[in-house]
Amino acid sequence: MEKSAYKINIIGAGVSGLIAAQILENYGYHPTIIEATDKVGGRVKSDSYKGYTLDHGFQVLLTSYPAAKKYLDYKALELQEFLPGATIFKNGKQQTIGDPLRKLTLLFPTLFSSIGNFSDKLKVLKLNTILKKKEVSAIFKENEKTTLQYLQDFGFSKEIISDFFKPFFSGIFLEPNLDTSSRMFEFVYKMFGDGLAVLPKKGIQAISDQLKGKLNNTTFLFNTAVKEVKNSSIILQDNSAIKSHITIIATEASSLISNLKNQETEWKSCETLYFESEKRTIQKPIIGLIANENSLVNNIFYHTSVDIANKSDKELLSVTIVNNHQLNENQLIDKVKQELKEYCKIEDLHFLKRYQIKKALPKLTNLQYEISSTETKLKSTIFLAGDQLLNGSLNAAMIAGERAALGVIQTLEDGLIVDELTSEYS
Ligand SMILES: Cc1cc2nc3c(=O)[nH]c(=O)nc-3n(C[C@H](O)[C@H](O)[C@H](O)COP(=O)(O)OP(=O)(O)OC[C@H]3O[C@@H](n4cnc5c(N)ncnc54)[C@H](O)[C@@H]3O)c2cc1C
Repeated sequence: MEKSAYKINIIGAGVSGLIAAQILENYGYHPTIIEATDKVGGRVKSDSYKGYTLDHGFQVLLTSYPAAKKYLDYKALELQEFLPGATIFKNGKQQTIGDPLRKLTLLFPTLFSSIGNFSDKLKVLKLNTILKKKEVSAIFKENEKTTLQYLQDFGFSKEIISDFFKPFFSGIFLEPNLDTSSRMFEFVYKMFGDGLAVLPKKGIQAISDQLKGKLNNTTFLFNTAVKEVKNSSIILQDNSAIKSHITIIATEASSLISNLKNQETEWKSCETLYFESEKRTIQKPIIGLIANENSLVNNIFYHTSVDIANKSDKELLSVTIVNNHQLNENQLIDKVKQELKEYCKIEDLHFLKRYQIKKALPKLTNLQYEISSTETKLKSTIFLAGDQLLNGSLNAAMIAGERAALGVIQTLEDGLIVDELTSEYS
């Protein structure tokens, strides 16, 4: 049977599914991606709105992600760099701290800021050195504890934990208590240290669009939701069936496979609100953190502090919330405006749009960095991909997609099921 004749279906056009398709194409296969929504990207999407490009939730790409380096053309993405640090709003004051080894201008503000004591600053340097030397594979072999416990055990003061680590990593882990595994903390901290946080000039969706643009032999079925995956067919929501020699489920599989129903992934949610304003309170391209345990707002970023494709002469501000609340939309907007005025002296905000992301990051324990291609195989004809197999990151989504595709290729090239398939479908 010709390689291109195999019916290989990938469920989900997120980053994981797109990478799986790319690998399959590289090996001569012609996969089909079945996607419930009307475009590629999954969680990595942007909208055009009133001249702005708004990402579905504030997120960044870390340039040091090994898989991103392998699969993305950074130059074509026209990446806009963040300063390696944060501007912290505390007690009506705005202070900037960061990594002076990479941005010398951050040396004095960091040394003289009242965020953390002198011993904390030395410990930050110590942690940088330890994690620079530590291999990613070693990080994922460590015993897990919560990030909060890790920071306490490392000897950081309560103040630097609540003023810097909590808001900074809550914005990344999308949970307010730093319950996330210390493996993820070490990994992300290392990635921040080894590279930069960046955003594509045209918004985060440019990543997904670039991956889609590389596909030449993949068919897309958009607005097509899958209801169930069987060994040799896929049942769609409208109950029609698609024949499938091999299926890669590049999203949560529990609702699609009958005997996985009790293995549902739990998810962390977040909200991002976008506002426009006449001027910026933070001039540099750096993330803003609210160091107040009672605030609903966790972090802010002026997207117009980097060179984004933007048709307005106003400033664009995103506000991320990771705490749960019971407010309706108008109450929420009022509360956010009131907090930004009180903590950051930001006024004159005009609300643009709200994104509520219920399934933002998988809530996982025993986080892994990678998975072997054979481990992605659920059954002889069904493979799994998606970040939830490993850890909640673009890097993990790419690795999982790659490994699932390699698992499929290996299975087909071993000839394990070829006879079965050819007799059934040829
Ligand atoms: C707000 C936010 C901030 C983030 N910040 C960062 C960050 O700063 N850095 C970082 O590395 N990562 C970040 N992430 C995580 C990153 O976006 C994800 O790890 C990655 O996009 C996951 O890709 P995926 O392909 O595994 O899953 P998804 O992107 O979820 O793709 C799954 C796809 O499957 C489709 N699908 C689902 N069910 C069906 C069905 N039944 N039938 C057909 N199609 C279906 C969905 O529509 C979707 O397109 C963030 C995520 C969010 C939401």
